[in-house]
Amino acid sequence: MVLAELGSKINHALRNMGTASVVDEQALDACLKEIATALIQADVNIKMVKQLRDNVKRQVQIEDLAAGLNKKRVIEKAVFSELCSMLDPSTEPYELKKGKSNVVMFVGLQGNGKTTTCTKYAYANKRKGYRPAMICADTFRAGAFDQLKQNCTKAGIPFYGSYTETDPAAIAQAGVDRFRQEKYDLIIVDTSGRHKQEDALFEEMREIEEAVQPDCIVFVIDGSVGQAAYDQALAFKKTVPVGAVIVTKLDGHAKGGGALSAVAATDSPIIYIGTGEHIDQFEHFEAKSFVSRLLGLGDWHGFMDKITDVIPEDQQPDLIEKLQGGTFTMRILYEQYANIMKMGPMSQVMSMIPGLGGDIIPKGADEASHERMKHFMTVMDSMTDAELDATDMKIFQEESRLRRIAMGSGRPAREVGSLMQEFKKMSMMWGKMKGLKGFSGKGGMSA
Ligand code: GDP
Repeated sequence: MVLAELGSKINHALRNMGTASVVDEQALDACLKEIATALIQADVNIKMVKQLRDNVKRQVQIEDLAAGLNKKRVIEKAVFSELCSMLDPSTEPYELKKGKSNVVMFVGLQGNGKTTTCTKYAYANKRKGYRPAMICADTFRAGAFDQLKQNCTKAGIPFYGSYTETDPAAIAQAGVDRFRQEKYDLIIVDTSGRHKQEDALFEEMREIEEAVQPDCIVFVIDGSVGQAAYDQALAFKKTVPVGAVIVTKLDGHAKGGGALSAVAATDSPIIYIGTGEHIDQFEHFEAKSFVSRLLGLGDWHGFMDKITDVIPEDQQPDLIEKLQGGTFTMRILYEQYANIMKMGPMSQVMSMIPGLGGDIIPKGADEASHERMKHFMTVMDSMTDAELDATDMKIFQEESRLRRIAMGSGRPAREVGSLMQEFKKMSMMWGKMKGLKGFSGKGGMSA
């Protein structure tokens, strides 16, 4: 998982404090020092780390906490909420509007993943029902238009650019005019990320902005940019009104913390993160969910996003109703396995489920867990409708029934037993979800 190392270091600091015999000012200081070191090692801007530390201390006021109160929990909550505030500038991102031509301009230095991200953004919104079109306003880099054309062709998205026109603002304007006329409702303008001089790059950006009057300007930054990220983001923000940030390459070895600091520099929220080169390796970003996952608390929001991504729209209300209803049956478990298998690596999906963290599936065990699920589904294939829909699990206490299911599926009896255990575990979790605040919406923990 993205930034997993940082998450485990923060957790370690919180756990250490939990085992301290007295949770006093000294224990809190030691804990905060450990968290601050972890954040700085992950390249989070030093000033922001100091602020987080001061804010937690102000929030907690350890000497004033009533005896008997779970101090560790209070501190954990304060750290959680400060990490969220660090990533959440409290400014809302621009919401695309149906029925108008939304113009979104992308800026960022070359190599940060801007063109790839434009395509991912277009594709993600195409799946949400928008009609995107893309414009290449980079006349500086030879091959920029070809790259955009290639990306667009693969994704089935119309594009506009020119091999002969040398004024990027003129291209951008012509492209926007054309796609507006053709009633595209999401017009994406990709700009240059490099020039002979920095001044020229920024001047060009300003001219394009003036020409197309975008509804939103997205700043794209590579997750592996370290402490320099803050100044880089600030330079862009000073030139054009950046309204949103996308952090790329948060897969692999990116420390990520530097780029996350771009939030403070631009006073703009992160709206997506890039987690791979492929067009759908792109995740919606929500600060609370992200911090929940970082601290191993799970992420309902991301989980629901994934679910709604793979389940046909007409089946979604039914599923959400079932989930919220909390009546769990073998048939629901069967459907969930089928859905989860469509969602991608199990460890990633499971890390989003609050309470499970990553530990239910050991690293590298994705394939084995897929196999296990397939076998469970085979077992369930030999159940009767009454068994699949039973809400009272007593019927599975009959030995003869379990033997029949095992025989019918050709799977060993112990596997039927494991499925029953799994069912019990999931059933309990579903029960908990019923009362979970914010289950259908945000985050895995209320701050
Ligand atoms: P631009 O110069 O800013 O337009 O950058 P490009 O879109 O050309 O991307 C530069 C390189 O980064 C390409 O090789 C992309 O495939 C790669 N890239 C972009 N986003 C991601 C990401 O989220 N993860 C990874 N691993 N690679 C990415």
